[in-house]
Amino acid sequence: MTDTAAHSVATEVEQWLARFEQALTEGDSAGSAELFGDESFWRDLVSFTWNLKTVEGPDEIRDMLEHTLGHTRPRGWRTTEPPAAADGVTEAWIEFETEVGRGHGHLRLKDGKAWTLLTALDELKGHEQPAGPMRPKGIEHGANPDRETWLERRRREAEELGHTTQPEVVIVGGGQGGIALGARLRQLGVPTIIVERNERPGDSWRKRYKSLCLHDPVWYDHLPYIKFPEHWPVFSPKDKIGDWLEMYTRVMELNYWSSTTAKSARYDQQAGEWVVVVERDGADITLRPGQLVLAMGMSGKPNVPEIPGADVFTGDQHHSSQHPGPDRYSGKKAVVVGSNNSAHDICAALWEGGADVTMVQRSSTHIVRSDTLMDVGLSALYSEQAVADGVTTEKADMIFASLPYRIMHEFQIPLYDEMRERDADFYERLEKAGFELDWGEDGSGLFMKYLRRGSGYYIDVGACELVAGGDVKLQSGAVDHLTEDAVVMADGTELPADLVVYATGYNSMNGWAADLISQEVADKVGKVWGHGSDTAKDPGPWEGEQRNMWKPTQQQALWFHGGNLHQSRHYSLYLALQLKARAEGIDTPVYGLQEVHHVS
Ligand SMILES: Cc1cc2nc3c(=O)[nH]c(=O)nc-3n(C[C@H](O)[C@H](O)[C@H](O)COP(=O)(O)OP(=O)(O)OC[C@H]3O[C@@H](n4cnc5c(N)ncnc54)[C@H](O)[C@@H]3O)c2cc1C
Repeated sequence: MTDTAAHSVATEVEQWLARFEQALTEGDSAGSAELFGDESFWRDLVSFTWNLKTVEGPDEIRDMLEHTLGHTRPRGWRTTEPPAAADGVTEAWIEFETEVGRGHGHLRLKDGKAWTLLTALDELKGHEQPAGPMRPKGIEHGANPDRETWLERRRREAEELGHTTQPEVVIVGGGQGGIALGARLRQLGVPTIIVERNERPGDSWRKRYKSLCLHDPVWYDHLPYIKFPEHWPVFSPKDKIGDWLEMYTRVMELNYWSSTTAKSARYDQQAGEWVVVVERDGADITLRPGQLVLAMGMSGKPNVPEIPGADVFTGDQHHSSQHPGPDRYSGKKAVVVGSNNSAHDICAALWEGGADVTMVQRSSTHIVRSDTLMDVGLSALYSEQAVADGVTTEKADMIFASLPYRIMHEFQIPLYDEMRERDADFYERLEKAGFELDWGEDGSGLFMKYLRRGSGYYIDVGACELVAGGDVKLQSGAVDHLTEDAVVMADGTELPADLVVYATGYNSMNGWAADLISQEVADKVGKVWGHGSDTAKDPGPWEGEQRNMWKPTQQQALWFHGGNLHQSRHYSLYLALQLKARAEGIDTPVYGLQEVHHVS
């Protein structure tokens, strides 16, 4: 951009922000909404709505402001860096404050009106994180006969919390989700216990199949506060990420109750607290937190098909989450039911381990090659180059968050068109082998499939060539039943088997609420995940945000947390701020609490 162009872009944004600020300050919801185009989106992460909420078009925006402006009292809107313009869209990074907090966000203007606005709460006034200039001193100078060392304090806290004092928050599930949220809450000074049935932090990764490496690259995977070091591999092996989580849990000083199983929970309406029974060292302990977070895994509740004859099959059979790896199956016949990520990874490892492997594909799968995905799909936001270009992981998270779900697919489709063209030969080989491919119902590919249904894809790191080359045999169709030693397909084909792996995915997280709390509460909060895209496994109506994730649910004081490493990192902040506000007794009027349309 020339200086003059840059100046006029900056002026355009400044003028818009000034008019916006004036209308907001005057409490003029209608006037504020008029600054948005007919097609426009305001995505708010907690700062106005105490919710994760996207409102669309001037009417919905006006309604949101009518309900929130009075107590939010937003002000101080300004840009944080020079705005930029391209293809008729002006983009600006902005910051603002509200009555109770400070936030930042992102604005896109089209023809002088707002097209997209993201507002995100960063911190609560008076409860800022003790970082940078506000970091704790760590030492108390002077002489004090009652001096308590850091270690003594930590030990005392561990002895008291959950026994003589109650935590404000209990997080059930100490995978990366529970750990990241626990770290945020620790920094915000919210007493929290993370309950984890495994022995060590990181075990949920360690216990997965032997060959597993993360499919997402390191820049996408950072936890809050502590980044992976420069020498960390691009794709973390599962046991290495397990060790990192264990280290992180320790140095972030989390109250992590390992080898502890949450057995039941019920909300005591009168006391305004949960009664959570956990089993630790063989004894039941009752915890009474104000808030309960279920972080038991989006990919944690196995979906195991009920197949007639499963009881007569004499070989090994297990869900992919229980698959130990290939070592004991050398020379054996393995049938892997499913054709998504876990199925491919497990087939490849079994083949490497010397098994005779058949993959059963029931319905089409979306495939992208890892290198191509990194290059075309991710490199602008999460890569070494992105970092060199000033797109830090935090900034990348915000860019991603600034695209409303309603239009996100429009940004994705051209990327997947490019991938399809680039790897045309590869896809042709797969189709020739009989593999059924898809690109998502609207061609929008992997991320949209993930956000809509959390399944239906494989990021190829090598298994596809085995399928294309016939090394891993492919069987299309549905399984009809099992015999003592075979899988029998609906068309009568018999697949002799010593091992059957059900790589058939996972169930909605409200199933965890059914297990732990009650079916009634599970139904009350409804389906978790998806945003109502009206595509397979994500039925409408349109919801605009991930169902029940990181935001208030229909059950008071019950929250769901999780997702991939990016989501756990980014959204743990907003969930932590919501929990902190409640712990401090800050008024948190929720705008647009989601309605429940589906129970699972
Ligand atoms: C095969 C596979 C590969 C994946 N690859 C990637 C990837 O490359 N990149 C990425 O970002 N994401 C990936 N994911 C998705 C996601 O990041 C992981 O599933 C991740 O483990 C989710 O973390 P979580 O903390 O939400 O859940 P989990 O890691 O599943 O942790 C949940 C924890 O809850 C505990 N728990 C459950 N019930 C109880 C109870 N009653 N009491 C106490 N504890 C309980 C479990 O023991 C478990 O440790 C992958 C998932 C799978 C299945």
